[in-house]
Amino acid sequence: MTSRIEILSPRLANQIAAGEVVERPASVIKELLENALDAGATRIDIDVERGGVQLLRITDNGHGIHPDDLPLALARHATSKIKTLDDLAAVMSLGFRGEALASIASVSRLTLISCQRDQDNAWLAFAEGAGMQVEVRPAALDVGTRVEVRDLFFNTPARRRFLRSENTEFAHIDETVRRVALARPDVAVRLTHNGKTVRNFRIADGKEGLAERVSAVLGRSFLVTAVEAEQQIEQQRIFGWIGHPEQHRAQADGQYVFVNGRAIRDRVVNHAIRSAYEESLPKGRAPCWALFIEMPAELVDVNVHPTKHEVRFRHARWMHDWITQTVRESLQRLPETVAQPVST
Ligand code: ADP
Ligand code: MG
Repeated sequence: MTSRIEILSPRLANQIAAGEVVERPASVIKELLENALDAGATRIDIDVERGGVQLLRITDNGHGIHPDDLPLALARHATSKIKTLDDLAAVMSLGFRGEALASIASVSRLTLISCQRDQDNAWLAFAEGAGMQVEVRPAALDVGTRVEVRDLFFNTPARRRFLRSENTEFAHIDETVRRVALARPDVAVRLTHNGKTVRNFRIADGKEGLAERVSAVLGRSFLVTAVEAEQQIEQQRIFGWIGHPEQHRAQADGQYVFVNGRAIRDRVVNHAIRSAYEESLPKGRAPCWALFIEMPAELVDVNVHPTKHEVRFRHARWMHDWITQTVRESLQRLPETVAQPVST
């Protein structure tokens, strides 16, 4: 017997969408950090309890949300960041899909508190029930936004079962925070776990500030042995630090690439950088790098996957070769014994 067709409830539709975006506590942190940065925050505080399963709380000093918009902020396909397809092509904000808060709210107990500069007090929104009706009431908070996510996956036991230990989940959160901190040295970021301060990145401006952040995230020994990279062609710029080939690791956990301030994991870029090292690396070992790419938004498509980790370059082949060449030139500036160009 065939069933009749029914439209899914908003909560169920959001839970299905959440499957793509919210894999674990760290993915919630990533989305909430992106929102804080898009709101122009210069200070972000992150409090985590029990690996993020019990509580994730992010407080920012960004521009906040208008009280009338609070229910919309929790609704799916609702965003203040784009209005047209043309906007999407030129998008510079980290978010644009209007899905994160709705997705997270559908698989947790989410409270959103926000205060804008011209408001007398903050307002709080909480989504409940299958229809995700939102209740809004007055609250207390300085200008900015706080999102509290409690009991992640409490209503999706299948997802909950995939979570690892508290320490493993927190390690993923920490990694996400470090990556964002690296992208934005102009923002102060503090992270606590079970009441203990784990990271405290202070604002560090300019080129020196970036170097300081790199050292805080990747370690002093990376920074002092790495070689700088810098190339510009028209409006496309690459800069950053290429790790000394002898500073390799067993895992590729020290490899950071940012395109227009967005952390990406891209096979084309990774391959391009790796091939510049040529034979200077022992087999199976991974060097470290922190590379920042800036380019006109039209030349890179960030709308490839809901998590926005992947990008597609308009001129992928050209980018690949440009990156390889940039990194190779940097490595050739290292003392001869370590990065000899291969002579074949
Ligand atoms: P997106 O970021 O793709 O727009 P989200 O679901 O993450 O979608 O957020 C929905 C909307 O809520 C955003 O477009 C923004 O207007 C607002 N918002 C969310 N978080 C914040 C924040 N921390 N500060 C200010 N506005 C926010
Ligand atoms: Mg967002």
